Amino acid sequence: MSMRGREGILFVISAPSGTGKSTLARRLVDETPELEFSVSFTTRAPREGEVDGSAYHFVDAAAFEAMIAREAFLEWANVFDNRYGTGIETTRESLDAGGDLLLDIDVQGARQVRGGPIPATTVMVLPPDFPTLERRLSGRGSEDEAQLRRRLGRARDEAEDYDNFDYLVVNDDLETAYSELQAIVRAERRRAIRCRGEARRIIETFPA
Ligand code: ADP
Ligand code: 5GP
Repeated sequence: MSMRGREGILFVISAPSGTGKSTLARRLVDETPELEFSVSFTTRAPREGEVDGSAYHFVDAAAFEAMIAREAFLEWANVFDNRYGTGIETTRESLDAGGDLLLDIDVQGARQVRGGPIPATTVMVLPPDFPTLERRLSGRGSEDEAQLRRRLGRARDEAEDYDNFDYLVVNDDLETAYSELQAIVRAERRRAIRCRGEARRIIETFPA
């Protein structure tokens, strides 16, 4: 456990592709002390500039399969032809050390985390409407037309899952969405049950 005297909090953020989840999550991790990204395992090839062990742990299909077999994943899923998963051991180690972790994972993965052994705070991000999602995804220019259609084709089912999440943030105006996300992290950190060490230290200074 950390100096804060509590275990880290596991945050999960999911959204239909193109919503702006990565934009929000990156900024949140950059600007929030003691909040780190969890580094997932994936079978997809590194994109230009992606460093192994930093963006992802890049592994081949056999290595991924072996991890599934030895139950090394907190969750894993097939996402757009590749496999992605969160290692359970590294997750536990980070949380035990007291740092908070952010999992940027798809909706299927979030579902597994909810049903898994580690309590998590889950956030769904939605765009204000479908045309905005379409515009953002095509504006990003990272997918060809077929991939774009596939991602958009899954968006409604993914969005329907919002009800299973703890929080819903609508990413219309970026600043508003970002401050709501920050508020969620701040509020979760101030839950009395997580502040026991701090409370005890304060109370011990009071005369009995
Ligand atoms: P995701 O990770 O959800 O797939 P990205 O973070 O890559 O989405 O965002 C998709 C595109 O939309 C990017 O080009 C990003 O700059 C843009 N974007 C994100 N949030 C907003 C916003 N609130 N308003 C306008 N554009 C946004
Ligand atoms: P990308 O290939 O663009 O980095 O990621 C594609 C999608 O996979 C994103 O929606 C991302 O959130 C999701 N993803 C990344 N890592 C994981 C993971 O460990 N588990 C799951 N279930 N999804 C992941």
